Amino acid sequence: MTIKALIIGGGVAGPVTAMALKQAGIDSTVYEAYDRSADGVGAFLTLAVNGLAALRTLGLSNLVRDKGFDTPSMAAEMDGRRLAEFSFGQPLPDGTRNQTITRADLYGALRDEAVRRGVPVEYGKRLVAAESTSDGVLARFADGSTARGDLLIGADGLRSVTRGIIDPNAPAPRYVPLLNAGGYARGVALAGEPGVMHMFFGRRCFFSYVTRPDGEVWWFANPPQPTELAPKDLAAITPEQWRTKLRDLFAGDDFPALEVIDATGHIFSGWNTYDFPKVPVWHRDRMIIIGDAAHATSPASGQGASMAMEDAVTLAKCLRDLPEVPRAFAAYESLRRRRVERVVAQGKRNGDGKAVGRLGRMMLPLIFRFVAKAAPKQGWLYDHRIDWDEPVAVG
Ligand SMILES: Cc1cc2nc3c(=O)[nH]c(=O)nc-3n(C[C@H](O)[C@H](O)[C@H](O)COP(=O)(O)OP(=O)(O)OC[C@H]3O[C@@H](n4cnc5c(N)ncnc54)[C@H](O)[C@@H]3O)c2cc1C
Repeated sequence: MTIKALIIGGGVAGPVTAMALKQAGIDSTVYEAYDRSADGVGAFLTLAVNGLAALRTLGLSNLVRDKGFDTPSMAAEMDGRRLAEFSFGQPLPDGTRNQTITRADLYGALRDEAVRRGVPVEYGKRLVAAESTSDGVLARFADGSTARGDLLIGADGLRSVTRGIIDPNAPAPRYVPLLNAGGYARGVALAGEPGVMHMFFGRRCFFSYVTRPDGEVWWFANPPQPTELAPKDLAAITPEQWRTKLRDLFAGDDFPALEVIDATGHIFSGWNTYDFPKVPVWHRDRMIIIGDAAHATSPASGQGASMAMEDAVTLAKCLRDLPEVPRAFAAYESLRRRRVERVVAQGKRNGDGKAVGRLGRMMLPLIFRFVAKAAPKQGWLYDHRIDWDEPVAVG
């Protein structure tokens, strides 16, 4: 019997899951709340080798390589001193390393490829409710339409509606007291190799940049913000107010933040930061959540999108090998929960390190000496590989 999955969300987890299911012989449709033109507004992200390895099991690694650029290592600096430099895991056998890519390019490429492989993607379909039926699931959308399937996969991100349908007592995301802003600077010559993620622990704010091979500088900053700002208050801050705020925060620091900010045409607006230490219930009946909906991690982990990709491939394998949906979901959870929660915890620690006070800054050289020593042991994070052909063990 052919089974059909309803996938809610066309970000990262949604299209990758659709393609993984296709490879496993399972049909699906992706339902995305926004229009195609709303992709990703502005920001960029870095995909880690473990996430790219998951894409590779679906023959997708070139998709990102063609649009992003290599970002193999990072260098942490403070007060003009290099605290540490280390690589983000081992390259894949074909030489693939961490890639930095705009969010718009990533979303667009994944969706286009899903469509090319025969997956329908429907836009303007915002899930508002879903219910289990005697033979599957019924999804209801804000435009009044409905869809029926054998199972429903909520890949609908941090503010997942699916999460609340599966578990009305699901926790809200935890606020992490950092804002995010950034941009793309042209015509500024900076020290260091292209592709090295430079990180600066400023006196008042964290700053990071990476230079693309053509010289464009991609950067972000994380101003500390002790209390959560309401979305309307965040949206009310104009790009020029951001510029002024950031210029104030970096005044007097000895790294080139001001130069970079001044060479940036448009500063993309700030976001609050959130994570989920634990979402206790991931699935009920024939509905499940994956990606940020189940385990959003602070951007400081650099792993949110990669975790979504690993989720997608693992879930498809479970549904391929364990045709009873609830058993497949249980197997999926047992394969994923420990790893993703460890990543969320790591992301929180990394984020905490970005907003240290004066005393914390004094401790940073010591902390980085430890981090650099521990870096080779980060194999658990970057060297994780999923073998597509290996059957999922029953039980
Ligand atoms: C500032 C910032 C920087 C980041 N940097 C990195 C990084 O460097 N590396 C990294 O790996 N990760 C990074 N992340 C995290 C990464 O973006 C996420 O982990 C990743 O996008 C999760 O993918 P997802 O598909 O689960 O969710 P999303 O990408 O958020 O996709 C969810 C999709 O569901 C849609 N949707 C939502 N609600 C509904 C609904 N009710 N019905 C239908 N559709 C719906 C949304 O419109 C969206 O398209 C960063 C995040 C932020 C905020």
